[in-house]
Amino acid sequence: MTQPIIPIVPEQLVNDPSKGDGLGCHAGEKQMMDAAKSSGKGEVLQRYAQDYPKGPHDQPQSMCPAFGSLRVGLRMRRTATILSGSACCVYGLTFTSHFYGARRSVGYVPFNSETLVTGKLFEDIRDSVHEQADPSKYDAIVIINLCVPTASGVPLQLLPKEINGVRIIGIDVPGFGVPTHAEAKDVLAGAMLQYARQEIMAGPVQAPRTGVQTKPSITLLGEMFPADPAVIGAMIEPMDLVVGATVPTREWRELYQALDCKAVAAIHPFYTASIREFEAAGRPVVGSAPVGYDGTAAWLEAIGKATNTPTEKINAAKHKILPAIRGVLSATPIKGRITLSGYEGSELLVARLLIESGADVRYVGSACPRTAWSDVDREWLEAKGVQVQFRASLEQDLAAMAEYQPDLAIGTTPVVQAAKQASIPALYFTNLISARPLMGPAGAGSLAQVINAAIGNQARFDEMKAFFGEVGANHNAGVWENVPKDRPEFKAETRRKLEKAIKKRKAEEMIWCTSLITIVLAAIGELFMSSRQSRDCK
Ligand code: SF4
Repeated sequence: MTQPIIPIVPEQLVNDPSKGDGLGCHAGEKQMMDAAKSSGKGEVLQRYAQDYPKGPHDQPQSMCPAFGSLRVGLRMRRTATILSGSACCVYGLTFTSHFYGARRSVGYVPFNSETLVTGKLFEDIRDSVHEQADPSKYDAIVIINLCVPTASGVPLQLLPKEINGVRIIGIDVPGFGVPTHAEAKDVLAGAMLQYARQEIMAGPVQAPRTGVQTKPSITLLGEMFPADPAVIGAMIEPMDLVVGATVPTREWRELYQALDCKAVAAIHPFYTASIREFEAAGRPVVGSAPVGYDGTAAWLEAIGKATNTPTEKINAAKHKILPAIRGVLSATPIKGRITLSGYEGSELLVARLLIESGADVRYVGSACPRTAWSDVDREWLEAKGVQVQFRASLEQDLAAMAEYQPDLAIGTTPVVQAAKQASIPALYFTNLISARPLMGPAGAGSLAQVINAAIGNQARFDEMKAFFGEVGANHNAGVWENVPKDRPEFKAETRRKLEKAIKKRKAEEMIWCTSLITIVLAAIGELFMSSRQSRDCK
């Protein structure tokens, strides 16, 4: 089937002096990247570039990526998480953590220009880690370098690996090296798995809180709705398999359990660093997830193959669950055209479920990259005529919505905002879709309920649009005491001033470069002359 073409709007974000006001996620990738490389972070950034290949834009378009690592740390028992970064970043990250229900304190080592450039910040971090390392309270302490300390080369790798039996995990999670908060979860999960794997190789380790599994287990990779692992456990029970740990784990000792599995189910396919650790431990990895009828059948087959399960047991598992899934899918159909985008990494799974429920899905955009583990879902969706866009930019998501005119747009906050402005019902992917059960019959039923309710709101949107007209749009936006008047001349004047400021700054940079070149040439000339004079004297 021929793929529909979505116009791609060119990005204009890189190094625009009008937008940069210092080092931060808005400063432009190049300055930050250059600074980080020249201060000794080249190797880690190189690894990130391989693990998390970039897309069409150079800076995060969603929340600060470090939130992913922070969230993983905050959700683990007996784990302290400390941030090292600009106060404004830490404020935002702390706020978001508590908004999402973190019940732990976020540690912070503050800095100023002096402590940053003199290396005192590193000493402060080391002191605070020593102070916190109480084995009666913690199994591990995680320290996260945000953008500025990473760009400045704060060497977390020089921290001790362990203090008083408390493991110390230092990671760099800059917005210019880790594109999404989803992949930042992998940065920490991968670092912890690597640490735990080395502990296993060094000798006996602690058993899981629930005891050692008597049957071969499947480790689930990716955050999911709390009931989903139990649903998956019931599905694989006829295959004599059990669900083991879910990574990111909730406790250090679960990392050992995760590595001690028969196979890994990469429910979220972007955990590249974690998968590297599982493969190093010799564990086979299976992509996709048991969503919908086709998805569940194919996933059970793949898990059976990876675990050498006899065909009759695989068939028994399929016969047990598939009729129930088909029953729910046909009892709760979804009717309507949908575009879908998000940055959680589960977008393709949701799209599969929507299509199996009867929805006309035209576009799936994911901020995460394409990996070998998303191929099964991508191929299935493309065979159904869906345009799948990895590393989708906001502009691509908006263009898809404009092109396909959906009955419902599922997306990130700015997509939802644009949809509602255009009177299209919309749902926020992160809070309303990805935080629901997806697996088995429960997944099919719960998704249909929320989607159908949202599509049914079209009449309310039309009514509101008819009532409000253009009030509150464009120059009418805001609170006015008089009738608002458009002032295009003001906008033109502001634009003119901005362009002038940019030109001035560029000219100053040119003068600076020319002076530098002159000084360097003069110095070379002087050196040449003095060496010639000394030769003549001899
Ligand atoms: S740490 Fe996050 S919020 Fe701060 S500059 Fe980097 S990407 Fe932006």
